[in-house]
This record gives sequence, structure tokens and C-alpha cells, in this order.
Amino acid sequence: MLETTKNRYKAEGVFPSKKELREMVKQQGLYSQVAQELVDRLLDAVWRFVKLKKQGVKCGFPRFKSFDRLKSLNYPQSGFKLEAKSLKVTPFGVVKIKLHRPIEGKIKTLTLKRESSGKWFAVFVVEVKLQVQVNCGLSIGIDLGLSKLAVCSDGSIIKNPRHFKKHEEKIALLCRRLSCKKKGSKNRVKAKLKLAVAYERLGNVRSDFLHKTSHRLVHSYGLIALEKLNVKGMVEHKFGKHINDAGWGKLANMISYKAESAGCKIIFVDPKNTSKQCSKCGLIVPKTLADREHRCPLCGLVLDRDLNASVNILNRALGQRVDTLVELTQEELMLKQEAHTLQG
Ligand SMILES: [Zn+2]
Repeated sequence: MLETTKNRYKAEGVFPSKKELREMVKQQGLYSQVAQELVDRLLDAVWRFVKLKKQGVKCGFPRFKSFDRLKSLNYPQSGFKLEAKSLKVTPFGVVKIKLHRPIEGKIKTLTLKRESSGKWFAVFVVEVKLQVQVNCGLSIGIDLGLSKLAVCSDGSIIKNPRHFKKHEEKIALLCRRLSCKKKGSKNRVKAKLKLAVAYERLGNVRSDFLHKTSHRLVHSYGLIALEKLNVKGMVEHKFGKHINDAGWGKLANMISYKAESAGCKIIFVDPKNTSKQCSKCGLIVPKTLADREHRCPLCGLVLDRDLNASVNILNRALGQRVDTLVELTQEELMLKQEAHTLQG
């Protein structure tokens, strides 16, 4: 399909129509709806490229994917039947499966997904009735951080589990091993697979941890306040890998979708100055990333930097934003600081 699209554009300056591509994949032996969905995906990608190009964004035309990168086939309605120990799916026939848990609700769609480790998964989307629980828990503000995953306004801290590091070290080792294998060799393929398995394992332990953490949070609190963070922008601009690793975005995402059924309310607040502002009096106290403590020269509050931020986040969510948003000049600040030291 991609080949046809490329050639057609080169020769005639237009893309082939959806109908034409659908006609083309009909003979390929895939279940018809699955094939149609592949057509949609390809054309979506092509049009996304055109749109971005028009906006002046640098991007490349959709590329051919090797089998390594083939990710999923989607059955939007039919073409499959789930049994106790097997899945009957057109055109592959009966496939033995390991059913992790009984499926609740009405099955809507099936996605066959291939991980880089070579494992195949059957993912079902089901329709269930939403049961909202009553939640009279307390309110909490959460500050997501780098050194600690999260600091809560009640003083509790959520750390990244230590064993993540063990997995990361293993990945680094396997990366080094892969890099010294000859291209195209069998050993390289083996090393690549090992690395993929290690990545998968790290991904699994991380999402397991994030699932459990978010589950616990939405069931223990009635209201959770978070910063509206532009994770993507931050990853690109400043901190890079660390934020991706910490899984901020993932945690925030999990908290918000789990909250609904747990009867927990989520409020995203403006992140501006949450770490600089004093959570007691509202003064903006400039800090660098190295300042781990908040010391207010105006009211004398001394608090851990992240804890101060999480209290601010909670206050903003509750609409108790401290009104005296005073911003002092550097000079005034010095004077106040001195005065405070004298008092102390
Ligand atoms: Zn203060």
C-alpha cells in the first residue's frame, strides 16, 4: 500500500483513494475489517504528514516497517471467537492462549499485538457498566518530582522502587553487548531479543508499580490535586530521559482514569510558581533546582521544597489560593531575609 501510494504521488501528484487501497488489500488473505483498518491507518499517517508539512513542522513521509516493528492487527467487530483455552481468529485459525483472567462484560474489539520480545497478546476491549463508589476520603495535593516520584501534601513520599535500577543496569549491559555484535549475524539477533525482553520486563515492573500506586491513591483520597504538566515539552527541553523514566505522565494518566470509578475527584492546577510560592503567605521566593528547602523571609515558614509545592497544589485546587501574591525585588528580599535571621 505504501509503495502504491508513493508511486502514485510521484507519477500523478495525488494519493490513491481509500476505495482503491481497500480493493488492493482484499486479496491479501487478512480478515476484511482488519485489512480495512490497515488502510485507514496508512492514510491517516499520510494525511497527518501532509498536515504537519503545511504547518511547517519538520517530519518525514511514512516509512516501510520491518516485521520487527509490526505492532498490531485490530478486529473492530468480528472475525474472532474466544473459548476457554483458545482463540479462534480469521484467518489464523485456532490459537492456544493463556487466559490471564475471566473476561467481564461484553467483548467489543480484539487487538492482536506483537511486542518486540516476540510475544503476542490478544487485547480485548469490553463494555461494562460503570459502578461508581462513594468516596469520602480527604483531599490531597501531589507534587511529581525527579528524585522522589511524588511528594504528597500530607507529608507522605512515594519513591521509585529500588529494583528499577537493577533492571536499568541490566539493560545498559545488554546494550553494550549488542553494540559489539556483527551486523546481520545470528548473535546480533539473539542479543537484540535479549535486550527487548529486558526492556519489556522493566516496562512491566514499572507499570505494575504505577498501577498499584494510582489504585491506592484514588481509593484513599476523595480529591487529588495535580499540576497540569506539559510532560512532553519538559522531556524535550530539559530533563530528558529521567522524566520518561519516572513515568509522571503515565501516573497522572492512570490516576485520572481510575478516579472516576473510585468516586475520586481530580483537579489539575496551574503549575506556575508552585515550588517558588510560599504555601503559608503567598510570597514568591526565588529558588534554583539545587535549593531543597523553602525558607520564607516574610512569614518564616521552613518546609521541604517539594512538600511546600504539594501544599500549594492542593490550595489551588481548593480555590484557597493565597491572595497576597507578593513579588518582592531582590533587595527587599535580602532585607527581609536578614530581618528574619535576626529574629530567629
Ligand atoms: Zn511565607
